[in-house]
Amino acid sequence: MNRILVTGGAGFLGSHLCDRLLNDGNEVICLDNFFTGSKDNIEHLLTDPHFELLRHDIVQPVLLEVDQIYNLACPASPIHYQYNPVKTTKTSVMGTINMLGLAKRVKARILQASTSEVYGDPTVHPQTESYWGNVNPVGVRSCYDEGKRAAETLCFDYRRQNNVEVRIARIFNTYGPRMALNDGRVVSNLILQMLRGEPMTIYGDGSQTRSFCYVADLIDGLVSLMNSDYDDSPVNLGNPHEVTILELAERIREITAADNPIEFQPLPADDPTRRCPDISLARRALDWKPRIPLEEGLRRTIDFFRSRMG
Ligand code: NAD
Ligand code: UDP
Repeated sequence: MNRILVTGGAGFLGSHLCDRLLNDGNEVICLDNFFTGSKDNIEHLLTDPHFELLRHDIVQPVLLEVDQIYNLACPASPIHYQYNPVKTTKTSVMGTINMLGLAKRVKARILQASTSEVYGDPTVHPQTESYWGNVNPVGVRSCYDEGKRAAETLCFDYRRQNNVEVRIARIFNTYGPRMALNDGRVVSNLILQMLRGEPMTIYGDGSQTRSFCYVADLIDGLVSLMNSDYDDSPVNLGNPHEVTILELAERIREITAADNPIEFQPLPADDPTRRCPDISLARRALDWKPRIPLEEGLRRTIDFFRSRMG
């Protein structure tokens, strides 16, 4: 039995990860400052004797004894990470230094949740891990993109300088139950609007693409990466099924036989035009690939949103 720290454990991905790690027979310490996380996500775990909840901000150091650390703490949705951009960079930089320092002291292996945003508005399709990206260093998304890039640098420097065992997952757009209803991301926005009978907001002309991974697949990938021997480079985790945002809206309308109108709104600054992971490395090194098709994942997510809306 391992004792595992999950930072950001009350968030969307973190809470699913806590479930999975407990199910696998581990002890889990869930650390969260509840900026975007919610007690609802972990309420069902509070009576589990192998689960511990710690309200803490990773910008401050913490002393714990653990075998593994999953560092997920960081707001992920653009409206949340742009709410206090300086804090977002602090969380990725100072927070990751604190978690790497902890890993070094207790000789724990650490997995850093990085992001496809390190590729910025990519000029290479699909994105491979060897692509260095096209990131605006001074734009409104930079606090997140550059913060995550600096976190990757820190991981590799702690490895080179202090022999810390690091794994880096470059996570592509992930969706599923427990996404915050108000997080402003495209899947949650479109489903909420559809269920409320409101117009579905498409930013720009809707021709920009994303590739959406269902949360259960992503969690499998994170756990496989943490426990694999592969540590040569960051690893892309995502679903390579690429769709335009307009197609995504169509899929959601089809599933529910809704006929909400589409409302076009201005495209936010620095919005990437195409995004799709090349997952050859994850297939080869982890024997991992996503299994849940978009339509099935959307159905499950829509059911969750219906239940949360009461
Ligand atoms: P989320 O916002 O639901 O979860 C983030 C959690 O971290 C929240 O519970 C929040 O309260 C907590 N947190 C934020 N700042 C903190 C701090 N300073 N100290 C302690 N806790 C803090 O987001 P998510 O979608 O679950 O994302 C989890 C991780 O995965 C993030 O690091 C994110 O960058 C990364 N990621 C997510 C996606 C995605 O599509 N969901 C894509 C790429 C990367
Ligand atoms: N988007 C949209 N309507 C919305 C919310 C987002 O058209 O109501 C677009 C957004 O401009 C982007 C894509 O959907 O092109 C994905 O946005 P999201 O914020 O979910 O993730 P990210 O841009 O970080 O990939």
